[in-house]
Amino acid sequence: MNKPASVPEQVDAVVVGAGFSGLYMLYRLRQLGLSVKVLDSAGDVGGTWYWNRYPGARCDVPTTDYAYTFDPELDQEWTWSEKYATQPEILDYLRFVADRYGLRSDIEFSATVTSARWDEQEKRWRVTTGRGTEIRCRYYVMATGCLSMPKSPDIEGASRFAGQVYFTSRWPGEGADFTGQRVAVIGTGSSGIQAIPLIARQASQLTVFQRTANFSIPAHNGPAPAGTLKQLGEDRDGYRHAARWSRGGIPVEPTDVLGVTASEAVRRERFEAAWELGELFGILNVFADQAVNPASNDIVAEMFREKIRSIVTDPETAEALCPKGHYFGTKRPCLDTGYFETYNLPHVRLVDLRKQPIISITQDGIETADESFGFDAIVYATGFDAMTGAMVAADVTGRDGLSLKEKWAAGPSTYLGLMTAGFPNFFMLTGPGSPSVLSNMTVSIEQHVDWVAGCLKDLREEGFETIEPTALAESGWNQHVQDCAAITLYPTANSWYMGANVPGKPRVFLPYIGGVGAYRQACDDVVGQGYFGFRMTGPGGDRCRDGVIRRMQPDVAMVLDLVAAMGMPATESLSAADARALMAATAATRPPGPEVGEVTDGVIPGPAGDLPYRLYRPAGPSEGPRPVVVYFHGGGWVLGNLDSDDPLCRDLCERSGAVVVSVNYRHAPEDRFPAAALDALAAVQWVDANAVELGGIPGQLAVAGWSAGANIAAVACQLARDAGGPRISGQLLICPVVDSDMTRPSYAENGDGYILTTALMRWFWDHYADPADRGDPRAVPLRGDLPGLPPACVVTADFDPLRDEGVAYARALETAGVPVRLTRARGHTHTSVTMVGMVISGAPVRAEIEEALGDFFPSPQPQEFVS
Ligand SMILES: Cc1cc2nc3c(=O)[nH]c(=O)nc-3n(C[C@H](O)[C@H](O)[C@H](O)COP(=O)(O)OP(=O)(O)OC[C@H]3O[C@@H](n4cnc5c(N)ncnc54)[C@H](O)[C@@H]3O)c2cc1C
Repeated sequence: MNKPASVPEQVDAVVVGAGFSGLYMLYRLRQLGLSVKVLDSAGDVGGTWYWNRYPGARCDVPTTDYAYTFDPELDQEWTWSEKYATQPEILDYLRFVADRYGLRSDIEFSATVTSARWDEQEKRWRVTTGRGTEIRCRYYVMATGCLSMPKSPDIEGASRFAGQVYFTSRWPGEGADFTGQRVAVIGTGSSGIQAIPLIARQASQLTVFQRTANFSIPAHNGPAPAGTLKQLGEDRDGYRHAARWSRGGIPVEPTDVLGVTASEAVRRERFEAAWELGELFGILNVFADQAVNPASNDIVAEMFREKIRSIVTDPETAEALCPKGHYFGTKRPCLDTGYFETYNLPHVRLVDLRKQPIISITQDGIETADESFGFDAIVYATGFDAMTGAMVAADVTGRDGLSLKEKWAAGPSTYLGLMTAGFPNFFMLTGPGSPSVLSNMTVSIEQHVDWVAGCLKDLREEGFETIEPTALAESGWNQHVQDCAAITLYPTANSWYMGANVPGKPRVFLPYIGGVGAYRQACDDVVGQGYFGFRMTGPGGDRCRDGVIRRMQPDVAMVLDLVAAMGMPATESLSAADARALMAATAATRPPGPEVGEVTDGVIPGPAGDLPYRLYRPAGPSEGPRPVVVYFHGGGWVLGNLDSDDPLCRDLCERSGAVVVSVNYRHAPEDRFPAAALDALAAVQWVDANAVELGGIPGQLAVAGWSAGANIAAVACQLARDAGGPRISGQLLICPVVDSDMTRPSYAENGDGYILTTALMRWFWDHYADPADRGDPRAVPLRGDLPGLPPACVVTADFDPLRDEGVAYARALETAGVPVRLTRARGHTHTSVTMVGMVISGAPVRAEIEEALGDFFPSPQPQEFVS
């Protein structure tokens, strides 16, 4: 029924977009008994599959997986004709879904949302369409798509061209006939790669303008994969469940084969198998380390290039088609059918825009730096303003007149990719900060829609009117999204994942790369903890449990999971000998640490016998003397030896350029307090006296240590000061033990579950020192005199029981006038910063340590210590 223009329509929820997301959202909201209005600029349902009708348009996730799964009956009713269905078939499917559930009656087509404003008074959104109508709603859901806002070609003269112009993302419904035409295709991303072979079949001449060569594998399309059909037939629910908790939204077993250590035969076998399989999640899973380790990635990339060179007959064209300059996977890889073979056709030509840039588009064609081309048609396959484009364009304004465009000027900021602070009751489906484009999107869409529907149900049942994230929860999630990306190679590429394809768009990694399963768990945890990080308001009052849902570095969490899965006995349940054997066995399986110039072993005369040491000399052009760092390993005064911290010593040596002398000291319980501390002092004295022989610069001596090693390093500084020498230039204390008081909050927070536990710390103390000695400054340097000590760098980790005593030591040193740098290992545990080659997120912390070490020694750079 048409309403008078002056009375705005009122519904419970407005949903923008009638693609996969919008249709399912409508279905779920109706189930809740809410009144809903769906608006879409398109003339029908389908979203992506309505607009992208270019020749060759298909999904590139097998359609057995790329479909709704919310209704088992629907799941079984529809049979896909091919492994990768064509655009018309997917559009038919979405039409079928719309009709099957009678969804169309709540959808208005050809209706573009031009603005949405939050009315704080009414606690409602006012949504305006291009037709000038206004609809008021309590909940506003943008199901506007990640790849729905075409990027304008921004090429000089584009409007001058007098021939036919096509955009792959806005292809005419009646299609295009290129028979006998001279056609240009600009762009070689997924759409271009799919369209080019088919356009080549019709065109008399096809010229492809390529800015970036892309990685593409043959799709080997055909019937739906028998293996998947069999699994679905046997256990449909199990298969779908596995997809929902997988990394990418498809049940693929992640490999544990490392590219860098695999044999050449294994490398080839795995790559060839993935090439033959023709699935994106297969080629992204050749090696476990290809997304994080450049050397492993290079192996995959080079095998790709070999394939291209073997297919394309003209060597110059082949070379231009070989992707270079970005790591494999860091830009969306493509699936193709005969793409590279197309360049062997006599009427197809590639123009490499890196060598021959476009100057302008003319009335007749395209002018490059070297040539003028005449064309009858130009096809733009130039991609999208991904993930944020459609949302920002729809002019959303939240509380206090803040627009989404303004809020996101420096990059999108969301909580879980679902909501954003300041915009109550505004939900995004597959928004930035969710797995979205890195996943099989139908799985991600269903998860988002289910979450939103569950949230609205809970709000209603608990009597709340509004929900929005807190600023803290949101910034914590943004940080987590970036942390996940930072351990991979993805942010190194100028990709649309980074917003790099749109001039002026901030460079921020947009999707969540932590995986579909991990993401689902985070969303579930938020709900399980009473909508943790959200503020809910209603007539009965407000509720807010503020905080950050994921504070741990993602690779640290992975290591903890691995350790838990190994089911090792608790160290404190073992004898010292068994604990040492266990530690040695685990140390043998970890990466070796970086190469250094030279490693030599020797002995230092200690107060009660020889102390073994290992000297690491940096590689490098200068054979001259270097500053020296005397290092003491961790292990609670009971465990550890020269091998246990070997990778860390290599890393310190390589990063700092200093000679590192790692000293083994007497261990408890055989030699209890103060044996280790006295050995540390003796070692420092001996190294100072023998600096020249060791290749060191006399007078440039620092001490360093981790955990209990940091304890004796700190004590050695106090003892050396009191003994009148040697002069120590600086002390690097990584997660130090500086007190025996276990009542600080970090013990309560982190005393269980992060490898170094309260129980283990007690076990260490019991082995090392009598209770009566646990107040002696040689055991607990925090209780010693601190003035006159060398400058310090104290490293503390968020999930370390020792965190607060480290902070207390840094503060106390500062109060005593000692220059201090306090370095926080954000999201780390007591052990993770030292896990060289295993925990990638530890590298930036160690880079800071290197800087601190540099500051200890005189250098041309100005010295600066910050507290
Ligand atoms: C060529 C192509 C192939 C793809 N293949 C795959 C694949 O194989 N696997 C995969 O997982 N993903 C694929 N994707 C991603 C694909 O976009 C999603 O899988 C999915 O279709 C997104 O559904 P959606 O409903 O969230 O968004 P869309 O399908 O993009 O729908 C969004 C709708 O919102 C409408 N809209 C936007 N703004 C407004 C506004 N202001 N007012 C009114 N309406 C508006 C648009 O008109 C559009 O219809 C592909 C994308 C493209 C472009």
